[in-house]
Amino acid sequence: MHILLTGGTGFIGDALVPSLLTQGHELTILSRSRHTDTEGCRYIRNLDELADDAHIDAAINLAGASLAGARWTASYKREIVDSRLETTRQLVACMQRLQVPPGVLLNASAIGYYGHGDQPVTEADDAGEGFSADLCRRWEEAASHAETLGTRVCLCRFGVVLDAGGGAFEELFRPFRFGLANWIGNGRQWLSWVHRSDVVAALAFLLEHDELSGPFNVTAPEPVTGRGMCDAIKQQRKTLITAPVPATVMRIMLGEMADELLINGQKVLPQRLTNSGFTFSYAHIDDALHAILA
Ligand code: NDP
Repeated sequence: MHILLTGGTGFIGDALVPSLLTQGHELTILSRSRHTDTEGCRYIRNLDELADDAHIDAAINLAGASLAGARWTASYKREIVDSRLETTRQLVACMQRLQVPPGVLLNASAIGYYGHGDQPVTEADDAGEGFSADLCRRWEEAASHAETLGTRVCLCRFGVVLDAGGGAFEELFRPFRFGLANWIGNGRQWLSWVHRSDVVAALAFLLEHDELSGPFNVTAPEPVTGRGMCDAIKQQRKTLITAPVPATVMRIMLGEMADELLINGQKVLPQRLTNSGFTFSYAHIDDALHAILA
């Protein structure tokens, strides 16, 4: 397949790109910075560089300013929103311009779609409330416009993607490097995680399965609480002291972001992927941490 990829230079892209190339796909990657083309992989800085008669089989849209990239000031929140909605709108407009629109669009979204809560949620549940939920709902709406082109659209609601060398794991693990085990707030908030290699595998699965469309929770089948995550890491790494971080401290340090991303959580189950026959390599946090920390 010839795949058009946005955000291919990010944490998920770093694992996805080599995997897609190994599978024999040809990639065109939209990036704001300059990169050297490699075999099977061409970089573009603007979607206008794609000719109208370019043959693109699939698009994968991962671009967006990091939610944890800076304090959530009004201007950074605008950047978080615009970097996703505008990129998605431009991507769909580009797909419309092509003589033959891509057959499938896999669009990133997030479990923030569901808002916060302790009850298990699946793709059958409605959007929740809050900045992240509103962002995800609007992002998914923008991507779903591609359906009018006859394109199959999969909305990939990623959980907290874990792997070594970046993403949330580095932040979670940092205190443990100094022998300090911790969780945030009361530790009862749900953390719906997923190993990065399962994200890559799920995207490949959705690419291949023409019958699948709509929302998919890309989260391991066994979410953990904040305290459960701490206990799981403690089993793999010796710690000297356990010192939970009070929610108020996180609020002072990070503002609104602390409530949205750290103090509250959501218990998300990957019902549609599982029912479609997708198997997670890392269903249990102990196995995932063992692989990451090996
Ligand atoms: P990263 O933050 O690592 O990378 C995203 C990419 O988006 C960057 O490589 C960059 O590409 C592009 N980008 C960054 N800022 C902007 C901007 N202001 N305007 C346009 N493009 C921008 O993301 P991940 O790989 O971790 O995640 C991919 C997607 O999945 C994201 O949209 C994220 O919100 C979503 N997601 C990720 C989760 C996770 O735990 N990682 C959890 C839930 C959802 P370049 O510099 O080449 O232009």
